Amino acid sequence: RAKGQPKASFHIWASDINARMHDRLAREVDLRQALLHERLEVHYQPQFAFDTGRMIGMEALMRWEQVPGQYVPPSEFIQLAEESGLIVDMGAWAVRQVTRQLASWLAAGLQPVPVAVNVSARQWTNGEIVQVVRLALRESAIPPALLRLEITETVAMGEGDQIIGLLHDIHALGIRLSLDDFGTGYSSLAYLKRFPLDELKIDRSFVTALPQDQQDAAIVHATVALARGLGLRVLAEGVETQAQAEFLAACGCDGAQGFLYSLPEMAEAAALRLQG
Ligand code: C2E
Ligand code: MG
Ligand code: MG
Ligand code: MG
Repeated sequence: RAKGQPKASFHIWASDINARMHDRLAREVDLRQALLHERLEVHYQPQFAFDTGRMIGMEALMRWEQVPGQYVPPSEFIQLAEESGLIVDMGAWAVRQVTRQLASWLAAGLQPVPVAVNVSARQWTNGEIVQVVRLALRESAIPPALLRLEITETVAMGEGDQIIGLLHDIHALGIRLSLDDFGTGYSSLAYLKRFPLDELKIDRSFVTALPQDQQDAAIVHATVALARGLGLRVLAEGVETQAQAEFLAACGCDGAQGFLYSLPEMAEAAALRLQG
Protein backbone atom coordinates (compact mmCIF):
# COMPACT_ATOMS: atom_id res chain seq x y z
CA ARG A 1 0.00 0.00 0.00
CA ALA A 2 1.33 3.45 -0.84
CA LYS A 3 2.58 5.42 2.10
CA GLY A 4 0.44 8.53 1.63
CA GLN A 5 -2.85 6.74 1.09
CA PRO A 6 -4.40 6.59 4.56
CA LYS A 7 -3.55 10.19 5.16
CA ALA A 8 -5.10 11.31 1.91
CA SER A 9 -8.32 9.39 2.51
CA PHE A 10 -8.47 10.73 6.05
CA HIS A 11 -8.17 14.20 4.65
CA ILE A 12 -11.03 13.62 2.23
CA TRP A 13 -13.11 12.06 4.98
CA ALA A 14 -12.45 14.96 7.34
CA SER A 15 -13.32 17.63 4.82
CA ASP A 16 -16.47 15.71 3.88
CA ILE A 17 -17.56 15.60 7.54
CA ASN A 18 -16.70 19.24 7.85
CA ALA A 19 -18.82 20.18 4.83
CA ARG A 20 -21.72 18.13 6.14
CA MET A 21 -21.47 19.69 9.59
CA HIS A 22 -21.42 23.11 8.03
CA ASP A 23 -24.44 22.27 5.91
CA ARG A 24 -26.32 20.97 8.89
CA LEU A 25 -25.53 24.00 10.98
CA ALA A 26 -26.66 26.31 8.20
CA ARG A 27 -29.95 24.41 7.95
CA GLU A 28 -30.41 24.57 11.68
CA VAL A 29 -29.90 28.34 11.66
CA ASP A 30 -32.39 28.58 8.76
CA LEU A 31 -34.97 26.57 10.66
CA ARG A 32 -34.51 28.67 13.80
CA GLN A 33 -35.08 31.79 11.71
CA ALA A 34 -38.15 30.25 10.13
CA LEU A 35 -39.63 29.61 13.57
CA LEU A 36 -38.79 33.13 14.69
CA HIS A 37 -40.19 34.85 11.61
CA GLU A 38 -43.37 32.81 11.25
CA ARG A 39 -42.29 30.96 8.13
CA LEU A 40 -43.55 27.73 9.64
CA GLU A 41 -47.13 26.80 8.92
CA VAL A 42 -49.58 24.22 10.08
CA HIS A 43 -51.45 22.28 7.43
CA TYR A 44 -54.47 20.14 8.21
CA GLN A 45 -55.33 16.65 6.97
CA PRO A 46 -58.93 15.52 7.52
CA GLN A 47 -59.79 12.15 9.07
CA PHE A 48 -63.01 10.31 8.23
CA ALA A 49 -65.15 7.69 9.97
CA PHE A 50 -65.79 4.56 7.89
CA ASP A 51 -69.35 4.05 9.15
CA THR A 52 -70.79 7.53 8.61
CA GLY A 53 -68.31 8.90 6.09
CA ARG A 54 -68.14 12.06 8.19
CA MET A 55 -65.05 14.02 9.09
CA ILE A 56 -64.13 13.15 12.68
CA GLY A 57 -60.92 15.08 13.09
CA MET A 58 -57.89 16.64 11.47
CA GLU A 59 -54.18 16.11 11.95
CA ALA A 60 -51.99 19.21 12.20
CA LEU A 61 -48.83 18.76 10.12
CA MET A 62 -46.05 21.28 10.14
CA ARG A 63 -44.67 22.79 6.96
CA TRP A 64 -41.66 25.03 6.41
CA GLU A 65 -42.08 27.65 3.71
CA GLN A 66 -38.38 27.87 2.96
CA VAL A 67 -38.95 29.62 -0.37
CA PRO A 68 -42.26 31.51 -0.87
CA GLY A 69 -44.88 29.04 -2.08
CA GLN A 70 -42.56 26.07 -1.58
CA TYR A 71 -43.22 23.92 1.42
CA VAL A 72 -40.59 21.63 2.89
CA PRO A 73 -42.25 18.60 4.54
CA PRO A 74 -41.40 17.53 8.09
CA SER A 75 -39.70 14.38 6.82
CA GLU A 76 -36.92 16.79 5.82
CA PHE A 77 -36.66 18.90 8.96
CA ILE A 78 -38.25 17.24 12.00
CA GLN A 79 -35.24 15.01 12.62
CA LEU A 80 -32.94 18.01 12.52
CA ALA A 81 -35.26 19.82 14.89
CA GLU A 82 -35.26 16.85 17.23
CA GLU A 83 -31.48 16.46 17.23
CA SER A 84 -30.86 20.15 17.81
CA GLY A 85 -33.53 20.47 20.49
CA LEU A 86 -35.37 23.08 18.42
CA ILE A 87 -38.38 20.76 18.36
CA VAL A 88 -39.24 21.87 21.89
CA ASP A 89 -39.94 25.44 20.76
CA MET A 90 -41.37 24.36 17.40
CA GLY A 91 -43.73 21.96 19.11
CA ALA A 92 -44.87 24.63 21.55
CA TRP A 93 -45.47 26.92 18.60
CA ALA A 94 -47.55 24.22 16.85
CA VAL A 95 -49.80 23.79 19.90
CA ARG A 96 -50.33 27.55 20.18
CA GLN A 97 -50.92 27.92 16.44
CA VAL A 98 -53.54 25.14 16.39
CA THR A 99 -55.40 26.42 19.46
CA ARG A 100 -55.44 29.93 17.96
CA GLN A 101 -56.76 28.52 14.69
CA LEU A 102 -59.49 26.60 16.50
CA ALA A 103 -60.46 29.74 18.42
CA SER A 104 -60.68 31.74 15.22
CA TRP A 105 -62.82 29.06 13.55
CA LEU A 106 -65.14 29.13 16.56
CA ALA A 107 -65.25 32.93 16.47
CA ALA A 108 -66.22 32.75 12.78
CA GLY A 109 -69.20 30.58 13.71
CA LEU A 110 -67.74 27.33 12.38
CA GLN A 111 -67.96 23.99 14.16
CA PRO A 112 -64.41 22.65 14.20
CA VAL A 113 -63.57 18.98 14.60
CA PRO A 114 -60.84 17.93 17.07
CA VAL A 115 -57.32 18.63 15.77
CA ALA A 116 -54.41 16.32 16.60
CA VAL A 117 -50.95 17.81 17.15
CA ASN A 118 -47.82 15.63 16.94
CA VAL A 119 -45.59 15.75 20.00
CA SER A 120 -42.01 14.44 19.91
CA ALA A 121 -40.50 12.33 22.68
CA ARG A 122 -38.08 15.17 23.33
CA GLN A 123 -40.97 17.45 24.34
CA TRP A 124 -42.05 14.95 27.00
CA THR A 125 -38.58 14.50 28.48
CA ASN A 126 -38.26 18.28 28.52
CA GLY A 127 -41.42 18.39 30.64
CA GLU A 128 -42.68 21.81 29.47
CA ILE A 129 -45.46 20.37 27.35
CA VAL A 130 -48.09 20.36 30.11
CA GLN A 131 -47.51 24.04 30.81
CA VAL A 132 -47.52 24.84 27.09
CA VAL A 133 -50.88 23.12 26.64
CA ARG A 134 -52.37 24.66 29.76
CA LEU A 135 -51.37 28.15 28.61
CA ALA A 136 -52.60 27.60 25.05
CA LEU A 137 -55.98 26.42 26.37
CA ARG A 138 -56.25 29.43 28.64
CA GLU A 139 -55.25 31.93 25.92
CA SER A 140 -57.54 30.47 23.27
CA ALA A 141 -60.41 29.53 25.60
CA ILE A 142 -61.28 26.57 23.34
CA PRO A 143 -62.96 23.45 24.72
CA PRO A 144 -60.07 21.07 25.58
CA ALA A 145 -61.80 18.26 23.71
CA LEU A 146 -60.96 20.05 20.45
CA LEU A 147 -57.28 19.33 21.02
CA ARG A 148 -55.69 15.91 20.74
CA LEU A 149 -52.03 15.02 21.10
CA GLU A 150 -50.27 12.30 19.10
CA ILE A 151 -47.43 10.54 20.84
CA THR A 152 -45.15 7.75 19.62
CA GLU A 153 -43.90 4.57 21.23
CA THR A 154 -40.48 6.17 21.74
CA VAL A 155 -42.09 8.11 24.59
CA ALA A 156 -42.54 4.76 26.34
CA MET A 157 -38.81 4.17 26.27
CA GLY A 158 -38.01 7.36 28.16
CA GLU A 159 -38.04 7.89 31.90
CA GLY A 160 -41.19 5.82 32.39
CA ASP A 161 -42.96 7.03 35.50
CA GLN A 162 -42.25 10.69 35.07
CA ILE A 163 -43.67 10.72 31.55
CA ILE A 164 -46.70 8.69 32.52
CA GLY A 165 -47.38 11.37 35.11
CA LEU A 166 -47.26 14.05 32.40
CA LEU A 167 -49.58 12.04 30.15
CA HIS A 168 -52.08 11.81 33.00
CA ASP A 169 -51.76 15.56 33.62
CA ILE A 170 -52.58 16.21 29.96
CA HIS A 171 -55.46 13.76 30.07
CA ALA A 172 -56.80 15.45 33.21
CA LEU A 173 -57.01 18.71 31.23
CA GLY A 174 -59.58 17.01 29.00
CA ILE A 175 -57.20 16.39 26.11
CA ARG A 176 -57.22 13.04 24.36
CA LEU A 177 -54.11 11.11 23.40
CA SER A 178 -53.42 9.04 20.27
CA LEU A 179 -50.61 6.58 19.79
CA ASP A 180 -49.08 7.40 16.40
CA ASP A 181 -47.20 4.99 14.10
CA PHE A 182 -48.31 2.04 16.21
CA GLY A 183 -46.08 -1.02 15.85
CA THR A 184 -43.07 0.74 14.36
CA GLY A 185 -41.23 1.40 17.65
CA TYR A 186 -39.23 -0.89 19.86
CA SER A 187 -41.21 -0.82 23.08
CA SER A 188 -43.08 -3.58 24.83
CA LEU A 189 -46.87 -3.56 24.89
CA ALA A 190 -46.90 -3.04 28.67
CA TYR A 191 -47.17 0.73 28.28
CA LEU A 192 -50.60 0.33 26.67
CA LYS A 193 -51.96 -0.46 30.14
CA ARG A 194 -50.37 2.58 31.72
CA PHE A 195 -50.86 5.32 29.12
CA PRO A 196 -54.23 7.14 29.20
CA LEU A 197 -54.76 6.62 25.45
CA ASP A 198 -57.97 6.70 23.52
CA GLU A 199 -56.79 5.97 19.97
CA LEU A 200 -54.25 3.85 18.09
CA LYS A 201 -53.06 4.93 14.67
CA ILE A 202 -52.01 2.18 12.28
CA ASP A 203 -48.84 3.28 10.54
CA ARG A 204 -48.79 3.82 6.79
CA SER A 205 -46.11 1.13 6.41
CA PHE A 206 -48.74 -1.51 7.28
CA VAL A 207 -51.33 -0.01 4.94
CA THR A 208 -49.40 0.51 1.71
CA ALA A 209 -49.39 -3.13 0.56
CA LEU A 210 -53.00 -3.88 1.57
CA PRO A 211 -55.11 -5.75 0.78
CA GLN A 212 -52.73 -8.21 -0.94
CA ASP A 213 -49.96 -8.52 1.63
CA GLN A 214 -50.82 -11.35 4.05
CA GLN A 215 -48.44 -10.19 6.75
CA ASP A 216 -49.72 -6.62 6.77
CA ALA A 217 -53.27 -7.94 6.75
CA ALA A 218 -52.49 -10.06 9.82
CA ILE A 219 -50.88 -7.10 11.59
CA VAL A 220 -53.88 -4.90 10.89
CA HIS A 221 -56.34 -7.57 12.12
CA ALA A 222 -54.31 -8.03 15.31
CA THR A 223 -54.02 -4.28 15.90
CA VAL A 224 -57.76 -3.78 15.55
CA ALA A 225 -58.44 -6.69 17.92
CA LEU A 226 -55.97 -5.28 20.43
CA ALA A 227 -57.48 -1.80 20.22
CA ARG A 228 -61.00 -3.19 20.61
CA GLY A 229 -59.96 -5.19 23.65
CA LEU A 230 -58.42 -2.11 25.22
CA GLY A 231 -61.40 0.08 24.36
CA LEU A 232 -59.44 2.29 21.98
CA ARG A 233 -60.44 3.80 18.66
CA VAL A 234 -58.33 2.71 15.65
CA LEU A 235 -57.46 5.01 12.78
CA ALA A 236 -55.44 4.02 9.72
CA GLU A 237 -53.05 6.44 8.11
CA GLY A 238 -51.70 6.70 4.59
CA VAL A 239 -54.81 5.31 2.88
CA GLU A 240 -54.39 5.90 -0.83
CA THR A 241 -56.72 3.44 -2.54
CA GLN A 242 -60.36 2.43 -2.32
CA ALA A 243 -59.27 -1.20 -1.92
CA GLN A 244 -57.21 -0.31 1.16
CA ALA A 245 -60.13 1.63 2.64
CA GLU A 246 -62.56 -1.25 2.07
CA PHE A 247 -60.19 -3.75 3.62
CA LEU A 248 -59.57 -1.55 6.67
CA ALA A 249 -63.27 -0.89 7.16
CA ALA A 250 -64.00 -4.63 6.91
CA CYS A 251 -61.31 -5.26 9.54
CA GLY A 252 -63.20 -3.05 11.95
CA CYS A 253 -61.03 0.01 11.73
CA ASP A 254 -62.97 3.10 12.84
CA GLY A 255 -61.60 5.59 10.37
CA ALA A 256 -58.78 6.76 8.18
CA GLN A 257 -56.80 9.59 6.74
CA GLY A 258 -54.82 9.59 3.54
CA PHE A 259 -54.36 10.92 0.06
CA LEU A 260 -57.45 8.96 -1.07
CA TYR A 261 -59.50 11.55 0.82
CA SER A 262 -57.26 14.60 0.99
CA LEU A 263 -53.73 15.88 1.16
CA PRO A 264 -52.84 18.01 4.17
CA GLU A 265 -54.19 21.45 3.25
CA MET A 266 -53.79 25.05 4.34
CA ALA A 267 -56.03 26.34 7.13
CA GLU A 268 -58.22 28.32 4.70
CA ALA A 269 -58.95 25.20 2.63
CA ALA A 270 -59.49 23.06 5.72
CA ALA A 271 -62.00 25.62 7.03
CA LEU A 272 -64.20 25.04 3.96
CA ARG A 273 -64.80 21.50 5.24
CA LEU A 274 -66.22 22.73 8.56
CA GLN A 275 -69.92 23.23 9.12
CA GLY A 276 -71.14 26.71 9.93
P1 C2E B 1 -47.16 11.33 11.04
O1 C2E B 1 -47.57 12.03 12.28
O2 C2E B 1 -47.28 9.86 11.01
O3 C2E B 1 -48.02 12.04 9.90
C1 C2E B 1 -48.50 11.39 8.77
C2 C2E B 1 -47.62 11.67 7.56
O4 C2E B 1 -48.11 10.91 6.47
C3 C2E B 1 -47.64 13.12 7.08
O5 C2E B 1 -46.37 13.38 6.53
C4 C2E B 1 -48.70 13.09 5.98
O6 C2E B 1 -48.56 14.14 5.05
C5 C2E B 1 -48.38 11.76 5.37
N1 C2E B 1 -49.54 11.18 4.67
C6 C2E B 1 -50.84 11.29 4.95
N2 C2E B 1 -51.58 10.57 4.10
C7 C2E B 1 -50.72 9.98 3.25
C8 C2E B 1 -50.89 9.11 2.12
O7 C2E B 1 -51.99 8.71 1.75
N3 C2E B 1 -49.76 8.71 1.47
C9 C2E B 1 -48.52 9.13 1.87
N4 C2E B 1 -47.47 8.71 1.16
N5 C2E B 1 -48.33 9.95 2.92
C10 C2E B 1 -49.42 10.37 3.60
P2 C2E B 1 -45.58 14.70 6.85
O8 C2E B 1 -46.53 15.88 6.91
O9 C2E B 1 -44.42 14.78 5.90
O10 C2E B 1 -45.05 14.45 8.31
C11 C2E B 1 -44.11 13.44 8.57
C12 C2E B 1 -43.93 13.25 10.05
O11 C2E B 1 -43.35 14.42 10.64
C13 C2E B 1 -45.22 13.04 10.81
O12 C2E B 1 -45.63 11.71 10.68
C14 C2E B 1 -44.80 13.42 12.20
O13 C2E B 1 -44.14 12.34 12.82
C15 C2E B 1 -43.81 14.52 11.95
N6 C2E B 1 -44.47 15.82 12.17
C16 C2E B 1 -45.24 16.56 11.36
N7 C2E B 1 -45.65 17.69 11.96
C17 C2E B 1 -45.11 17.68 13.20
C18 C2E B 1 -45.16 18.56 14.34
O14 C2E B 1 -45.83 19.62 14.34
N8 C2E B 1 -44.45 18.19 15.45
C19 C2E B 1 -43.74 17.02 15.51
N9 C2E B 1 -43.09 16.72 16.62
N10 C2E B 1 -43.69 16.18 14.47
C20 C2E B 1 -44.36 16.49 13.34
MG1 MG C 1 -49.08 11.96 13.48
MG1 MG D 1 -48.26 8.49 11.94
MG1 MG E 1 -46.18 7.67 10.02
